[in-house]
Amino acid sequence: ASGYTLMRDPRHNKGLAFTERERDAHYLRGLLPPIVLSQELQEKRIMHMLRQYKVPLQRYMAMMDLQERNERLFYKLLIDNVEELLPVVYTPTVGEACQKYGSIFRRPQGLYISLKEKGKILEVLKNWPERSVQVIVVTDGERILGLGDLGCQGMGIPVGKLSLYTALGGVRPSACLPITIDVGTNNEKLLNDEFYIGLRQRRATGQEYAELLHEFMSAVKQNYGEKVLIQFEDFANHNAFELLARYSSSHLVFNDDIQGTASVVLAGLLAALKLLGGTLADHGFLFLGAGEAGTGIAELIALEMSKQTGNPIEENRKKIWLVDSKGLIVDSRKHSLQHFKKPWAHEHEPVSKLVDAVKAIKPTVLIGTSGVGKQFTREVVEAMASINEKPLIMALSNPTSQAECTAEEAYTWSEGRAIFASGSPFDPFEYDGKVFVPGQANNAYIFPGFGLGVIMSGAIRVHDDMLLTASEALAAQVTEEHFKKGLIYPPFSDIRKISANIAAKVAAKAYELGLASHLPQPEDLVKYAESCMYSPVYRSYR
Ligand code: NAP
Ligand code: MN
Repeated sequence: ASGYTLMRDPRHNKGLAFTERERDAHYLRGLLPPIVLSQELQEKRIMHMLRQYKVPLQRYMAMMDLQERNERLFYKLLIDNVEELLPVVYTPTVGEACQKYGSIFRRPQGLYISLKEKGKILEVLKNWPERSVQVIVVTDGERILGLGDLGCQGMGIPVGKLSLYTALGGVRPSACLPITIDVGTNNEKLLNDEFYIGLRQRRATGQEYAELLHEFMSAVKQNYGEKVLIQFEDFANHNAFELLARYSSSHLVFNDDIQGTASVVLAGLLAALKLLGGTLADHGFLFLGAGEAGTGIAELIALEMSKQTGNPIEENRKKIWLVDSKGLIVDSRKHSLQHFKKPWAHEHEPVSKLVDAVKAIKPTVLIGTSGVGKQFTREVVEAMASINEKPLIMALSNPTSQAECTAEEAYTWSEGRAIFASGSPFDPFEYDGKVFVPGQANNAYIFPGFGLGVIMSGAIRVHDDMLLTASEALAAQVTEEHFKKGLIYPPFSDIRKISANIAAKVAAKAYELGLASHLPQPEDLVKYAESCMYSPVYRSYR
């Protein structure tokens, strides 16, 4: 190929880092200025430039430009500066990018499958240039982060999530395929926006929706086989639960909003037991919010209890209570509950206010997954602190403005006794001379390593035991030193190592369950995981 073509291929381009020999061998002489830079210096230069942008969206766009220009440099930046750049390529900035996607759109970064492609989805998949796809992240844009229906502009989510699969889990970029399914949008603002990139119609529902998704799921399996991981992302909860239930026995499917969240939160709980004492089954749980996150977490907690105690899951569910927008979920509401809430309708008087539910249920653990901020009021936190010596409080709703309470509030109102973790990051807080470091229950702890484990074992189905294993593997990486600061998650800066460990344990479980197809099983799975992981360091072209 000509040097000019080489430079325009983001997968191979090195920019000023092409060596003298490469410039000779690949017809690059004169196409570049004379200087040769190291990848490290290129990285330094771009980080310097990024830090000058004051507007987060500018940083996002600069990162997307880099990804389209020089893929390895993009991933080197992301891996080496993960804590700084995660909020740029993923939440919160990606949310703003999706809202403005129509205006900032330059080049498609994934596949768009709309109602117009009905009957031709297999052909559409064949238009994608890569043959050996291992992970698909797909959204229909109906519930993008906490921002609601963004229709076709939800594409930023699969793109961002997959860049984390590569940066944090080491899945090759060429093996990642972002897909947005466009069945319309109910977002009036977008429907009236002249720059909107999606179908200008209201959402298809019912049979029309189900048929398009069914064609999609069949086409993916036909085109890529059984071992492609399909991650559902940011679907509204009525569709999310149904799609997962419908396809989990025939496809390799994973829903990060339900299962990934559950696994990362369970990991925090398992780690916190070291601080709280007792086993999981000794504790009582109360949730504010009974949607994808809340019921997903609740179910995985009950499963882990069953694994530890051998008790039937129905019995364990009774230790877990949920409050939704209508109050405590109790048996008298059963007839009108959505099906995913029904297992949580226990025998109790109706209770409408959270603080009364805390007083009635007396939980040891309070988890917020309502999407509504400021719900863990002083009264609620004080009630938790009067019942428990060390109340465990997780305020998971995102973004920061929607957190059920802040770290400062949790520590202050509990007089420094709370163990606190949140969905959005909070700074360390000093109370009574002690510095508390709040943990962040970031889904990015789990899904990249989980996905890598699934891929490297050639698993053909996701089994709940693999999720439990991932939680245990993450919890096992919290050390004494972290506990001393009140942390129940390990530092995110170690994420590649954390992911390799999770991948190894998930793969081992897949082999044990007979779901793995890559045989024989590698002897040292951690080493094998590390050896599978994508490295962003330039290769030399001879
Ligand atoms: P979802 O499926 O829409 O569920 C929201 C739930 O909250 C519903 O059960 C809803 O009640 C309930 N709710 C809404 N307003 C309420 C109120 N004022 N009082 C009591 N309950 C209320 O949403 P989701 O996907 O579960 O996400 C929920 C939140 O969790 C979001 O903010 C998200 O950012 C966060 N989250 C965090 C993490 C993480 O930290 N790693 C992961 C995933 C999600 P009804 O059912 O009655 O409508
Ligand atoms: Mn999501």
